[in-house]
Amino acid sequence: NITNASLNGRRSIAVSGGVVSATGIFAARAANAEVWDVEGKRYIDFASGIGVVATGHRHPRVMEAVYAQLECFTHTAFQVMAYQPYIELAERLNSIAPFSAAAQTLLLTTGAEAVENAVKIARMATGRSAVIAFSGAFHGRTSLTLAMTGKMAPYKRGMGSAGREVFRIPFPLEHRGVAVDASIDALHALFYSDVAPDQVAAIIIEPVQGEGGFQVAPRKLLRHLRHVCDAHGILLIADEIQSGFGRTGRMFAIEHSGVEPDLITLAKSLAGGFPLAAVLGRADIMESASPGSLGGTYGGSPIGCAAALAVMDVIEDENLLERAEVIGARVRSRLTEIARRNDVLTMANLRGLGAMIGFDLVSSSDQRIPNGAAAKEVASRALANGLIVLTCGTHGETVRILVPLTISDALLDEGLSILERALIRP
Ligand code: PLP
Repeated sequence: NITNASLNGRRSIAVSGGVVSATGIFAARAANAEVWDVEGKRYIDFASGIGVVATGHRHPRVMEAVYAQLECFTHTAFQVMAYQPYIELAERLNSIAPFSAAAQTLLLTTGAEAVENAVKIARMATGRSAVIAFSGAFHGRTSLTLAMTGKMAPYKRGMGSAGREVFRIPFPLEHRGVAVDASIDALHALFYSDVAPDQVAAIIIEPVQGEGGFQVAPRKLLRHLRHVCDAHGILLIADEIQSGFGRTGRMFAIEHSGVEPDLITLAKSLAGGFPLAAVLGRADIMESASPGSLGGTYGGSPIGCAAALAVMDVIEDENLLERAEVIGARVRSRLTEIARRNDVLTMANLRGLGAMIGFDLVSSSDQRIPNGAAAKEVASRALANGLIVLTCGTHGETVRILVPLTISDALLDEGLSILERALIRP
């Protein structure tokens, strides 16, 4: 008889400092927007796994495509025998990439690997090495991506110094007093004092910061970055690993700004729950990578490619871009209503794009002071009542909502009611 407690006692794995499951809960199965634990309790998943299953857990069409691929082959030596699903997916991604020039795609396995490869490509294309990233950014947990990640705890503690060629400027947070002009000024100060623009290979930005707290990059900043990049031959990388692939109502969140990046990284929602990541870039940039310098044993696995092709069909056929907007409006209007109640914890800074929505829990006496403890409490009460919501932000003060875009209105409303109860002041 498997129970949550019996599994939690088996401390045989090395993740998160020996903590097996921080909540003590273990998954047994999932379908669309619901997950059941090993004891049969049901949870509504307002996190899409961790921003992964935008098309729902085990979407029947994704499963069908994967089963069909399993019947053919699961792996080849790519250099000896490439395969159709890779080519088809790359062509399809190229056709939707928001570049005015021809695009090329590199397929990999994880988000951090995509970011690493985007930086490698930018370095090869420019012959330069410096990279500029933003405060609050999250780009992964490998050495280079960790150096580009802004948030210190828990990712960087005890990891030694940040990468020597990574520079950082503040991400604009109007509600915390960091105006967009302050970020722009910081970029120019950096050029003046720390690194010359002609040493910089790339500037990397999340169009909507994920782990940093669902902060939307202002259009003015993105336009200015484009201008600076054009002026100095720097490449602009949009890290769309959390914001991309339909989540915000566009395939790529940066499309809302009208700014064209040079390279885009994707992972998470790309393959509906299967490990797959991508770098999309202008073909002239992608072609500067030397032969054999990119790739990996499992990069662009046939299973992941088959799943991603089905995910793209589902997004199109089920109109999930429009659905993201509808979900976003419904969630925002309900949260606005909840925040007006006078018996709930103090909520502030409701924000986001499409169905990527966050709000902060803050001190009731001073709304500028984040209240991470309250957000943690809300997530834990919601979980006890059958709703999965994640927190993020520098102090863990942001409740983030990333529902599967395939969720029904009934389940969405049920989840919002659980969230509402979890927000009531104890
Ligand atoms: N970039 C962004 C914007 C992310 O949100 C994440 C993961 O949360 C990553 C990169 C790293 O992806 P992975 O965990 O697949 O390495």
